[in-house]
Formats: sequence, C-alpha cells, structure tokens
Amino acid sequence: MADDKRNILLLSKDDLNAFLKRISAKAYIANQIYNWIFKKFVFNFDEMLNISKDMRAILKSEFYFDLPEISTIQKSNDGTKKYLLKLKDGMFIEMVLIPNLKKNTVCISSQVGCARNCNFCATAKLGLVRNLTVAEIVGQILLVSGDLFPNKLTNIVFMGMGEPLDNYDNVVESIRFINREDTLLFSPRRITISTSGVIPGIERLANENLNVKLAVSLNSAINEKRDEIMPINTTYPLEKLKNQLLNFRKKSNFRITFEYIMIANFNMSNSDIKALRKFVGDISCKINLIPWNPVENLPYKSPSKHEIENFRNKLSENLNFAITLRNSRGQDIDAACGQLVAKKISRER
Ligand code: SAH
Repeated sequence: MADDKRNILLLSKDDLNAFLKRISAKAYIANQIYNWIFKKFVFNFDEMLNISKDMRAILKSEFYFDLPEISTIQKSNDGTKKYLLKLKDGMFIEMVLIPNLKKNTVCISSQVGCARNCNFCATAKLGLVRNLTVAEIVGQILLVSGDLFPNKLTNIVFMGMGEPLDNYDNVVESIRFINREDTLLFSPRRITISTSGVIPGIERLANENLNVKLAVSLNSAINEKRDEIMPINTTYPLEKLKNQLLNFRKKSNFRITFEYIMIANFNMSNSDIKALRKFVGDISCKINLIPWNPVENLPYKSPSKHEIENFRNKLSENLNFAITLRNSRGQDIDAACGQLVAKKISRER
C-alpha cells in the first residue's frame, strides 16, 4: 500500500487531527508529532519515543517522510557546507549552508537547472529540467535545520539553482508553510528571494503581502551589456525592471538588494559605474558586489583585488547606500555563486 502513504511533513494539522480522530487516538499525539518534526527535526517515527510503539506502527503504515536524500556533504575550510541532494526521480540539486558568527544562512535551490540562460552562470548550462515541488523546497530547509540542530537556521536565501520567480507558486507556498506557527514559525523577513528580473513575478510578489526581501541580479545597468550576459533583459529591459522595482518598494518595508557580479574587462569601467549609479540612484537599496567566480569553459575573467577596490571606491563616492563586497565562501568546494552545478549530473549523463 506504499503508494497510498501520505507525506507527513506537509500534512496540515487539520488532516492529522482528522486522521487521529478516525482511528480514535488521542488528539495530543498530533502535537507530539509536530514537536518531533519541527522542533527537534526528527524524521523517523521510531525515534518519537513519547509515542507508544503501537501508535508508531500505525503512523508508519499510514505516513512517510518525503525528504531529498543527502548524497554527499562537502565541508569547506571556511565552514561552508555544500550538500548534494538526490530527488526521488534521480535528479540532483545543491544546497549550501553558510555559517557566519551568529547567523546560519542556507542558500537553497528552487529548480533543477534554470531556463534563464545567464551566460556567466554554471547552473544555466544545465538548462531547465523542472521546477522543485513544495516538498522539495521545504525538504531542503528541514534537512539543513536537522543538520544544524541544536543550533538554529536564521536566514534563507533563494540563490541556489534556479530562478525562484519562475517557480512562483511553489516558492511562495513553501514560505507560507514554514511561517506557520505549528511548523517553523520562520519569519519571511529572514528570507530573500533573488531574481534575474522576472517582472511579472516581482509584480505578483509586490501584491502578495508576504514581507520577504527581494534581491535583483543586476550585473550591468547598460541594456546592451545586460542583453549580452542575461538574455532575460531582452524581454524585461532595465527601464521596465526599474519601474517595477519602484512599485515593489512602495509596498515593501525592506530595501532591495542589487547583486552586481564584477567581471574583469566587461562591466567595471567608468561608464559602467556611471550607469549603475544612475540606475540605483532613486531606489532605496543596498548593493552587493560579487567578484565573478570562475566557471569551467566560460570566457570571463575574475577581477583582481585592486580592480575590485577601485570599482568599489568609485561607485561609493557620494552615494549613500550600503555597498557590501561578498567575500566568496566555499570556493574550494565549488559552492560559491554560480558554481552550483551538480557535477554528478554531468557525470551520469
Ligand atoms: N536566478 C536567481 C537566483 C540564483 S543566482 C538570480 O538570478 O538572482 C544567485 C546569484 O549568483 C545571482 O546574483 C547571480 O548573479 C550570481 N552568480 C551566478 N553565477 C555567478 C558566478 N559565476 N560568479 C559569481 N556570482 C554568480
């Protein structure tokens, strides 16, 4: 009867209560189960020791734990951990945990591959294979929370594989799910959705009343250049993107973060800086500068320390925004931005 089993991880409390009532079991068992799963991150009925053995047997025959399988974990010298996760259909995704002082941030995937084809990014080379389900998105968060326990996951960024706004419904449903009081009570303010600039998705998100943070991968404020590295710009060019961001900003409490990958000899000249300053000038925002991380077989070059400093200094002259430089973490394990390509996929192909 395995096919009839339900995923206990996404079951609503009402459904669980209804089940317990149907078999004439005590209602408080639902709380016990939820405590084990969402407070202690135990994903196995056998370990739920305050529940009777007979009851555990019944639960096992009725429900299962639908989680991606951890295929490998690589640990970087700087504490960053990369998980290669195997999904039920044999596909792989990656997830990265970035501990930093008191913060534990996880970078999760929203799709297997990506359709947006940014030509500096490793994930793009896979093309879009499929969207992740809600169970697969929530599953990543539960797995990493379990691995961290008793420490806590504090932040979530949708900056792994995929374009989250191309999998809008499942991403939003996952965020609403983990925000529930009976699950993780994880605040949307500690979640960042990063987009390559999917305007209709940004518009929907503005009206969603969700209170998540938004990051936009800008990478150039000059249309011709952005067209060249991010084909999405030919559909949603900079002026339209900017209008939508101004609209989003009106409805959100949080400043938008612009991510700008610095590529040597491409988007770091004085005219690039001028265009960038003009573009962000009237949007209250933060700018996150990211040195391009090398990806195999791509023709780009990472900037030198000197070029980075120079760019940063010129950009920040009389500009009242926070400009941060993302120091690339986990480079020794290919976990840094854009390197999130499940190498195993290519090996198995
Ligand atoms: N599709 C979404 C989220 C995934 S990408 C988006 O585009 O925002 C997450 C971040 O990694 C983006 O800011 C992207 O610009 C950056 N990135 C991609 N490839 C990179 C590379 N090779 N080096 C540095 N950053 C990269």
